[in-house]
Amino acid sequence: MTTTTDWRTQAARLTFRNGVYIDGQFREAAKGGRFETVNPANAQVLTDVARGTAEDIDAAVASARRAFNDGRWSGKSPAERKEVLLRLAALIRENIPELALLETLDVGKPISDSSTIDAPGSAHFFQWHAEAIDKLYDEIAPTGRGDLALIRRVPLGVIGAVVPWNFPLDMATWKLAPALATGNSVVLKPAEQSPLSALMLAELASEAGLPDGVLNVVPGFGEDAGRALGLHADVDALVFTGSTKVGKFFMTYAGQSNMKQVWLETGGKSPSLVFADADLDKAAEMAAFGILFNSGEVCSANSRLLVHRSVQEEFTQKVIAATSAWPLGDPLDPATRMGPLVEKAHADRVADYIEIGRSEARLAHGGTRETRDGSDCYIQPTIFNEVAPDARIAREEIFGPVLAITPFDSDEEALRIANDSEYGLAASVWTKDLSRALSVSDRLNAGTVSVNTVDALSAMTPFGGMKQSGFGRDLSIHSFDKYCALKTVWVKY
Ligand code: NAD
Repeated sequence: MTTTTDWRTQAARLTFRNGVYIDGQFREAAKGGRFETVNPANAQVLTDVARGTAEDIDAAVASARRAFNDGRWSGKSPAERKEVLLRLAALIRENIPELALLETLDVGKPISDSSTIDAPGSAHFFQWHAEAIDKLYDEIAPTGRGDLALIRRVPLGVIGAVVPWNFPLDMATWKLAPALATGNSVVLKPAEQSPLSALMLAELASEAGLPDGVLNVVPGFGEDAGRALGLHADVDALVFTGSTKVGKFFMTYAGQSNMKQVWLETGGKSPSLVFADADLDKAAEMAAFGILFNSGEVCSANSRLLVHRSVQEEFTQKVIAATSAWPLGDPLDPATRMGPLVEKAHADRVADYIEIGRSEARLAHGGTRETRDGSDCYIQPTIFNEVAPDARIAREEIFGPVLAITPFDSDEEALRIANDSEYGLAASVWTKDLSRALSVSDRLNAGTVSVNTVDALSAMTPFGGMKQSGFGRDLSIHSFDKYCALKTVWVKY
């Protein structure tokens, strides 16, 4: 097994790619600006990165447009595109330790996750979309003799992709894999907290044979590079994962510019419904996973636990016990399951919510913020009990390891509380009664309902939200829909 010392040694040898990647090359930002990216585990600066602005977005979009128009990628057959993307998947696999380290250093994610989930996941998602793309058939309408009407899927053109910091590599991959498989060109703007893995990914894509200009990466801040991409008149679609607030900005940018398509994967406040007949041990173990995996920095985190009153106290104790399987610590230690939060400003925000929680509900566990190795981004698993459904900690996305437990007395009440949210990303249902599981699932407003598990997810199934959790789906065959237009061609004969 790779030890903490091994990971530290490898980390010390890393060189960071830190330019703007346009036309297959790293360059300085047009205005020469740079910004620091910080390791939240020890508050040390990792490197400084070129700070892309509107000028760099213009250059990247122009490069993507040239590449799209001359057909160097869009003109290739799906089978040819598949080969390149399969090579990219293989290169990601060969580079899992380096990609995992970049992810861990940049955002504080435990190396045990980044090396087994995030980096291998990126390879898997590229491979899945690559393998699917030459198995999709277009359609012929049932017109009768003398007419032939072809219904074809065509790539949209230039895609702008703006992604968050919680799963930097995988959120980028969820956009890039279907966008590139369908023949589009892309300009990707990673989050300012986490630009490093996307820059390495761009280099690997070129090495795999992706022609220059097809994938451009512009690191930079949301309010300048992100906004410029959202407002750009030559971007055909903008795909976004991030907060609901910023998602709404992108709808406005589209309205103010060229009415580009906008697809949004945004926030969540996902409920887990635990009925009295559930396997309480399993449900408690998974409730801890649902709020502590990735330190709760998960859009579909099960941050609201709705529990039947008859088992509330027993179940709460089981969840508290289950948190002991989630040691907080140095993210380069393979035994660590929870690292620091991504940055000081975010840890401050989560700590503020814990204070709000103390005034709204009963603190049942945790609630402490710790300073380790010079960083105060470490927050212990925190559980509030007796949380009223209208409490702020039950309604607002905290995006940290903070769980709100609310009791219910009937199935109807559980459903009413679960659906009384501006969000609708995911939900879990715990019961041994199949009929209850299915009827409750039918009535939950959520893009994914997991029965007797939490956050079930696969490349084969669509992922996305309802209500203000967004619209459009990542993953699965349906993810291709966002990156294609349907074109009808009529032929008289
Ligand atoms: P964020 O919305 O602050 O930032 C996301 C991206 O938008 C970043 O690249 C950022 O630079 C950019 N951005 C910020 N302000 C902008 C502006 N004014 N104009 C244009 N671009 C701008 O989100 P975050 O804090 O990075 O990520 C956390 C959020 O992401 C949470 O709300 C979480 O629920 C959500 N998320 C959703 C999913 C999903 O699939 N639904 C997945 C992961 C994260």
